[in-house]
Amino acid sequence: AKQEGRNTYRFHTQALSSAASERLDLETRLRRALAENEFVLHYQMLIDARNEAAIGVEALVRWQPPGEAMVAPGKFIPIAEETGLIVPLGEWVLRSACQQGKAWIDAGLPLMIMAVNLSVRQFQSVDVVELVRRALADSGFPAERLELELTEGMLMDDANQTIVTLNALKQLGVRLSIDDFGTGYSSLAYLKRFPIDKLKIDQSFVRGLYDDLNDREITATIIAMSRILKLDVLAEGVETEQQLTFLRENGCDYYQGYWFHRPESAAGVEQRLAEKFSR
Ligand code: C2E
Ligand code: CA
Ligand code: CA
Ligand code: CA
Repeated sequence: AKQEGRNTYRFHTQALSSAASERLDLETRLRRALAENEFVLHYQMLIDARNEAAIGVEALVRWQPPGEAMVAPGKFIPIAEETGLIVPLGEWVLRSACQQGKAWIDAGLPLMIMAVNLSVRQFQSVDVVELVRRALADSGFPAERLELELTEGMLMDDANQTIVTLNALKQLGVRLSIDDFGTGYSSLAYLKRFPIDKLKIDQSFVRGLYDDLNDREITATIIAMSRILKLDVLAEGVETEQQLTFLRENGCDYYQGYWFHRPESAAGVEQRLAEKFSR
């Protein structure tokens, strides 16, 4: 048994070190990808429930290694976060989204919201307020149309420091939303205290709207709570008409999901915005 134990141990260290070297490899490739400009932004339409027309977009990063398939963020964002690479990558995303948004506005396209995801690391380890201020100033993108997506986890760490940062961001004129809402540790107290503009109901609840009573009740409660707290509320991951019907009946303000549009390249989104405009 002892022998076996040792073998198991050796097996584990080997497995670990191969995982570690794979990770190191990916880290090196990501670093190079950033230097070589291999990241691109796709955009997904945000839909206003009142007329079911696009009101803006969320920027979603993708990695396009030359000659290979496009890589989804789920595959590299966690490693970028662990290694700190998310800080320069996140800055690139923010700047690129603002520049693209400004170009669309200058072209006369109706873009009221450009939503950008912020990571915990960005929020903690750099002067995020200065970062956003500079991205706005350098691009000329109007602050009130920039919406920063935060997560619940970011807001809980040090509530006092968080509120200072959030207030400073609001001073710039940007909008703040809480992404994946309902999956973290929310408390009504901080929702009331923090200068948040919108809750984005996590797609895991929206997925179950047709047949899961809990998901229906959670979603209805988040929508009702948003109304009480005077926050906008958006449902993510809307894929079916049944989900949409439930959200309509419960008075959700905004939708996002494949039922309306999948994330698309800048060129695709531009065409769509232009169609909407000429109609
Ligand atoms: P997220 O911020 O919650 O973004 C929504 C994700 O749901 C996107 O996946 C989008 O393509 C997907 N989605 C949208 N509608 C539907 C739908 O109807 N059904 C389903 N099943 N999925 C839908 P994506 O683009 O793969 O991004 C995954 C996550 O990666 C994002 O989740 C976000 O957490 C992170 N991410 C993406 N871009 C960035 C970025 O620029 N910075 C940071 N920090 N994180 C990012
Ligand atoms: Ca998001
Ligand atoms: Ca989300
Ligand atoms: Ca998510």
